[in-house]
Amino acid sequence: MTRPFRLTLVHPSVGRNRGMKKYIRTWMMEPIPVGMLAALTPRGVEKRFYDDRVESIPFDEPTDLVAMSVETYTAKRAYQIASEYRRRRIPVVMGGFHATLCPEEVGQYCETLVVGEAESVFPEVVEDYRLGRPRPLYQSAGRPSLLTSPERAVFAGKGYLPIKLVEFSRGCRFRCDFCAIQSFFESSHNHRPVDRVLEEVNRIRRPGQLFFFIDDNITSDLEAAKELMRALIPAGVRWVSQSAINVAFDEEALELMRRSGCQGVLVGFESLEEGSLREMNKGFNLMKGGPARAMENFRKHGLRIYGTFLFGYDQDTPASFGRALRFAEEEGLFIAAFNHVTPFPGTPLYRRMAEERRLLFETWWLDDRYRYNMIPFQPTGMTTEELATGCLEARRKFYSWRSILSRARHRVNFRSPFMLANFLVINAMHQRDVEGRNGLALGDADWAGPLLKAH
Ligand code: SF4
Repeated sequence: MTRPFRLTLVHPSVGRNRGMKKYIRTWMMEPIPVGMLAALTPRGVEKRFYDDRVESIPFDEPTDLVAMSVETYTAKRAYQIASEYRRRRIPVVMGGFHATLCPEEVGQYCETLVVGEAESVFPEVVEDYRLGRPRPLYQSAGRPSLLTSPERAVFAGKGYLPIKLVEFSRGCRFRCDFCAIQSFFESSHNHRPVDRVLEEVNRIRRPGQLFFFIDDNITSDLEAAKELMRALIPAGVRWVSQSAINVAFDEEALELMRRSGCQGVLVGFESLEEGSLREMNKGFNLMKGGPARAMENFRKHGLRIYGTFLFGYDQDTPASFGRALRFAEEEGLFIAAFNHVTPFPGTPLYRRMAEERRLLFETWWLDDRYRYNMIPFQPTGMTTEELATGCLEARRKFYSWRSILSRARHRVNFRSPFMLANFLVINAMHQRDVEGRNGLALGDADWAGPLLKAH
């Protein structure tokens, strides 16, 4: 009898500093792209999965093929892992955001490159390897129907957070210039059939389960989102997700969010500077009274908000940090992120920075001098140091006990003792994490040798 074909799925980490034994474990969730690849693998193939963030990869374990989904932040580590397998003559397949946005680069480090969404091509890739006729490039045509649910059995025993990640929709109709999502999906959006999502939710729920709909913008198609929320009401679950600000101005949507168990949403406020919002092509954040009115509407429906802010656009000055911080505190944000904008390859922002010769590291994600949270471009309204310290200081102040306690006074954050405890614990965890991965190497700094190219 011939033995089954063996596929190894690997989730690369961002990296490790020299001598660092353990990865930074906070907020470690199930890597859904791996679950999707597992589900898309043809029957009869023997699968195993290693998460580089939580375990050592047994490179010498016999396997026939390795597959990795690559993001810009994990690209260098993915190439190191691929080099280890290449030394052992094991072929590597790469796909994911970075593979689609930087195909020339990623194509050098894998035997097979998958461009676009995996659904329509991954089964064929594995089958072709099994039959000994692989191709160097597989390109998905158009947007696939999203009918597959991830195979979560591969996550067993890895110690991920108990929150369940479910996908309803993918992509976003907006065109924010810094956003890799709009580049990858070319500002398109599609969603799964509501009954499939509901079946998945009911199948994997545990008592008191919290779900995270990992959609890039769950309300990109507002009517479809409402249909999902209506269907979720009888399920009686609790959920969180990410949404653009426009949902705050639709009373019916807000009411459905509350009734369907929405605990809160991440909203990208990005900036309170009108010029910066226009520059990033996110002027829609100013619609119908803008962020303050949006917050008023969210609070009225008991929805807690995780607000994110970006700094470093040309209209930003050192005063922009204080303005965003004041807003975040006065409006009682549940949590918030204050980060410098990052030019991701393939985005309009990256192209503009490159044209204006403002990139301080052209391929910052591969540069040995680059560290996590370093400013990779030259801002105009402040220095790189001011930009880096401005973000850090805003985070420190927002997660100080003074700010946490003042935000705890907003009714939306303390509606019940359970909610207040939740608020305090989550904020305390963020306080511990303020410097987070600052200074973390991209790739394993202890890994020696040149990256081995495939061709
Ligand atoms: S709204 Fe969000 S997901 Fe959509 S393009 Fe803008 S940043 Fe990206």
